[in-house]
Amino acid sequence: MNKLVVLEIKSSIGGINRSLFPVVICEDKEMVLVDAGYAGQFELFKSAAIEKGIDLENLTKIVITHQDIDHISGLAEMKRRFKNVQVMSSEIEADYISGKKKSLRLVWAENNIDKMSDDQKENLIRLKRMIEGVESTNVDVLLKDNEILSGCHGIRVIATPGHMPGHISVYFEATKTMITGDAVGIVDGKFVINPMFTLDKDQAKEYIKKMLTFDIKNIVCYHGGVFEGNCREALSAVLD
Ligand SMILES: [Zn+2]
Repeated sequence: MNKLVVLEIKSSIGGINRSLFPVVICEDKEMVLVDAGYAGQFELFKSAAIEKGIDLENLTKIVITHQDIDHISGLAEMKRRFKNVQVMSSEIEADYISGKKKSLRLVWAENNIDKMSDDQKENLIRLKRMIEGVESTNVDVLLKDNEILSGCHGIRVIATPGHMPGHISVYFEATKTMITGDAVGIVDGKFVINPMFTLDKDQAKEYIKKMLTFDIKNIVCYHGGVFEGNCREALSAVLD
């Protein structure tokens, strides 16, 4: 069975409602979740999956695209509740996910707080507190660029640093779908490299070029969901 399902997880953080779009890929005996949401969203994930005909109790792998809290703070609970799950990330991100190194987002927040308006400052202080409260999780498997996940035929890891230095995207060959994580998001129907939260925008652009070397029919962004329209044309426009 080859199947890709996009979950919608409605989230409210700091009074702002926005949805996250983690992806579940089913391939033969493997069920792979890409990104784990915020702490406390376990039941939301389960029910969003059931709505799409998927039981996350069969999950075998969780791929984490990068260390940001909206991708990892739900991970510890998932690892506890789904006993047979392997957690996977790039080697660079693994040290942050497991708490061996101080979160780069926390460092970024500390370095930028004085440059912000009062409103932004408040948000940054909230973000700092949230990051400090994240429960670390050990990463079981370190992923390399261009690797196919073990036990899978066509779930491929694509290194896409920029947003974070060890950021990865996932390409599902059966449906030619690129799961971008935060390498790009969708705002007002257009792809964007997040101007505030991307640590190295030039690098992020370089790796969009790399993404474009793949045969892409569909794109799913963690922020924005499924792109509607001509993926390649719209993704190329990010480089202008
Ligand atoms: Zn991020």
